[in-house]
Amino acid sequence: MTKYIFVTGGVISSLGKGISSASIGKIMESRGLKVSLVKFDPYINVDPGTMNPYQHGEVYVTDDGAETDMDLGHYERFTSAKTTKFNNITTGQIYNSVISRERRGDYLGKTIQVIPHITNEIKDRIKTAAAASGADIVIVEIGGTVGDIESLPFLEAARQFRLDAGYNNVVYVHVTLIPYVKSADEVKTKPTQHSVGKLREIGIQPDALICRTEKTISDELKEKISLFCNVKKNAVIEAKDAESIYQIPLVFKDQGLDRLILNHFDLHCRSTALKDWQKKVVDRAINPTHKVTIAVIGKYIELQDAYKSIYESLIHAGIFNDAKVIIKKIDSEEIEDRGAEEVLKGLSGILVPGGFGYRGIEGKIAAIKYAREKAVPFLGLCLGMQCSVIEFARNVCALKGANSAEFEPKARNPVISLLAGQKNIKDMGGTMRLGAYPCRIKKGTLASKAYKSNLISERHRHRYEFNNKYRAILKKKGMVFSGIYPKKNLVEIVELPTACGKPHPYFIAVQYHPEFKSKPDRPHPLFRDFVKAALKITGF
Ligand code: GLN
Repeated sequence: MTKYIFVTGGVISSLGKGISSASIGKIMESRGLKVSLVKFDPYINVDPGTMNPYQHGEVYVTDDGAETDMDLGHYERFTSAKTTKFNNITTGQIYNSVISRERRGDYLGKTIQVIPHITNEIKDRIKTAAAASGADIVIVEIGGTVGDIESLPFLEAARQFRLDAGYNNVVYVHVTLIPYVKSADEVKTKPTQHSVGKLREIGIQPDALICRTEKTISDELKEKISLFCNVKKNAVIEAKDAESIYQIPLVFKDQGLDRLILNHFDLHCRSTALKDWQKKVVDRAINPTHKVTIAVIGKYIELQDAYKSIYESLIHAGIFNDAKVIIKKIDSEEIEDRGAEEVLKGLSGILVPGGFGYRGIEGKIAAIKYAREKAVPFLGLCLGMQCSVIEFARNVCALKGANSAEFEPKARNPVISLLAGQKNIKDMGGTMRLGAYPCRIKKGTLASKAYKSNLISERHRHRYEFNNKYRAILKKKGMVFSGIYPKKNLVEIVELPTACGKPHPYFIAVQYHPEFKSKPDRPHPLFRDFVKAALKITGF
């Protein structure tokens, strides 16, 4: 019998509900249970694929090609659960399917209403996700903050779920804020009381509270929260700001949250300590020996979440290499204004991430030229790979006007272009090359050293491809094509073993998104070797 944990959020957004849910997943796994995590997003978009990063942050891509909320990234990084298109459900998807069924005549004669039709669809989606994953425990995170109009149908469905599945099979966890008021030198429980009150109005009595706080919550205060919110004292879990997000599962386990949840489910599973996680991830994340500074050159730099998986992957590679990775976020337009030399001097590694549209491209190309000529370790991802091809074509192969057809549809030398199958696409949603594709690796290359395998699988999200017409010219000038998608002969990885007549320490760029598969205890091999090369040039 599957058990369900619903995670809601109160008071304000950005409390770390995703990390809390992922951490609950981790402590459930420490009990030998198989978990799956589902995220509900109350917006009306069908998926975040067409949203601007300023609106949404990173779009996380699953193996089966779903464009999803970035919380799924936390789920995959913290647990061994694999996410699929069933793990991210939006209001848009729910209404889309209810309305299509209505048009087909499936509800003939009936008035279609939020309760029960929309709520039934929500509950069905939870059950489908549960069945598809075969998990013992399904954790459902409800996006938004309690009190939002948009998330009401999801909360109502969560309330009904306990009625259908049975009291003992459903746990409600509420993530809330206990703010510190400086002038009073006190932490305050009132917002939490109100938020729990709001939940109870909807008919949900939380079984546990995760209290986000800057300060320690005293025993006395826990008693107060317990009394006012009608939650047992040992179910008031303190979640103080941590140095590393990877500490959170340990914080929850230390306070017995796993025991509390299992008692509710009436499950008896042996507990294993998260010793490896503590030693190999947390201790190293908090007390690294070395330090290295890496530039990430993007155009949504001021936004914390736009390159979330990339930042995490760099942190994972740092954990492995016993180094703190200081990430210098650089706006590519700044390079256009001030020049690469000026902006990038003294940095030990340069990473150019994915992106769309022409703005900032010339700055990225200038940064890549700098990395190539000055022998600075370089990692290019998706658009970053396309830019490194453009840079090489223009500056090494003297291909005038080399560009991507995305930026200049009539480019003289379209070294990056559309495949025939992409040319007549009208719908923007879900029509890129999405999800996992196999890639054959050439022996004796950086890629082969990193992956130690000749066939890998990585996730994609792009429309444009390397134009094979230019392969021979670029190859002649020294670019190595070390990864190919065999079925369509598409270039997936490029490398430069030498640049300007000297060996280059690390120059590799990939058409896919390795950042989606890195984990704190298993860094992605390309990031691992990139940070290692960066550390090496700092002298370690
Ligand atoms: N804009 C490029 C394309 O569509 C790259 C996409 C990306 O970096 N994710 O091919």
